[in-house]
Amino acid sequence: LESLLKDPTLLARQAFIAGEWKDASDAGTFDVTNPARGDVIVSLPDMNVGAAKFAIEQAEIAQKEWVKWTGKERAAVLRRISELMIENAEDLGAILTAEMGKPLQEAISEIKYSASFFEWFGEEAKRIYGETIPGHMRDKRITVIKQPVGVVTSITPWNFPSAMIARKLAPALAAGCSFVGRPANQTPLSALAIAIIAERAGLPKGLLTIIPSSKARKIGAEFCSNPAVRKLTFTGSTEVGRILMKQCSDQIMKLSLELGGNAPFIVFDDADLDDAVEGAIASKYRNNGQTCVCSNRIYVQSGIYDAFAQKLSKRVSEMAVGDGLEQGTLNGPLIDMNSLDKVEEHITDALAKGAKVTAGGNRHALGGSFFEPTVLTDVKSDMLVATEETFGPLAPLFKFETEEEVLAAANDTIFGLASYFYSNDLNRVIRMQEGLEYGIVGVNTGLISTEVAPFGGVKQSGLGREGSHHGIEDFLELKYICTSVK
Ligand code: ADP
Repeated sequence: LESLLKDPTLLARQAFIAGEWKDASDAGTFDVTNPARGDVIVSLPDMNVGAAKFAIEQAEIAQKEWVKWTGKERAAVLRRISELMIENAEDLGAILTAEMGKPLQEAISEIKYSASFFEWFGEEAKRIYGETIPGHMRDKRITVIKQPVGVVTSITPWNFPSAMIARKLAPALAAGCSFVGRPANQTPLSALAIAIIAERAGLPKGLLTIIPSSKARKIGAEFCSNPAVRKLTFTGSTEVGRILMKQCSDQIMKLSLELGGNAPFIVFDDADLDDAVEGAIASKYRNNGQTCVCSNRIYVQSGIYDAFAQKLSKRVSEMAVGDGLEQGTLNGPLIDMNSLDKVEEHITDALAKGAKVTAGGNRHALGGSFFEPTVLTDVKSDMLVATEETFGPLAPLFKFETEEEVLAAANDTIFGLASYFYSNDLNRVIRMQEGLEYGIVGVNTGLISTEVAPFGGVKQSGLGREGSHHGIEDFLELKYICTSVK
């Protein structure tokens, strides 16, 4: 990997604890491996809870100074982080591809997406406006100010190793908070690269910590129980989200949770067929199906079902699978063998209950955790794919007859993150966008992520929103001030 980088110093080998690069004195190391090749990229210090405690202590001190900076001063640092990420996008993308597997072009896009959050929230730092409210009595004056919550801890997954940190770190810093994060142990290098960039951009010491560690539970417990921490922000599974929410209850800690999804993608008879196929591909196969907004259940109306299945299967059969660092690769490997097992389990279960394979269906000839992009037809609601998130390159096609039927099926889940539908009937479009019980609805599009819009779920898909002018509110507290005047 190093030979591919214009700036090899972006590849971290240490932990970033309160502004210092550290080796673990007592804890040994853990390996970061390349899922496409199986080889070890680097070994990182496997930090213990002590590092988290120290980082939180320092974050509390640093935050008290950071809050005094003007919005414009904080914005200047965030803008510089954004610029440096764009300038180094190719190197940062290569590091991301090496540790996570997604194709290099997708990785570079993710880096630009990450940079956009630093730009956006830097701008928002200048606009943390308060309020004045006409007094309720003649001698009373009422003002409302917004203040940072304080020390924020963060736990993030492996599927967007850069963007999931950026979406949390940028609004936290913009609001005047400090930040202690633990990235997923599969993908700590992109998070550490952000720390390198932030240091170069002039972020004051102590405000940011990135703890590489294989001890998810122990570090997580500290993040939820240390009395200096005022907020936890988490992206990951609903299962782990539930555990963290319970752990945070003792301290009544503020929480943001971006959890699992089970996104429906609905194609009505009146949709533009080619657009719908392209949208399904973008939404399903991006990141090899490993995003929480990837369509998980594809519902196609009976009049267009066969044509859609045929077109989609043809396109999917032609997709190039391979090492993300090689030119032309559209689909990389899955993150690990457990993920591959889940895709296989979903296919086996569906086939046993009457589904048919119309593209892919097997482990890829490249071996390892590579899997063929797959399409299944004749999928029914009693199959595992209907209720569980596959998190892999598998498109299950359900057939439906009426709008009422498909809306009920789409909403019949504990999840409520992203949803998509294709239709050209204006009345139906409005009925559907209002009826879908989801935090995000894509209408005639399969791509919805942007820093300017609020991203987040309802039901068991989470709490809070990331991105947009709403995103910074999750890192702020309101203070109501009542002043009596003689
Ligand atoms: P994913 O399927 O994306 O790995 P998880 O919810 O399992 O989703 O993991 C998301 C993040 O949470 C990862 O960084 C993981 O290491 C971490 N994690 C998993 N279990 C716990 C836990 N009990 N406490 C704290 N962090 C955890």
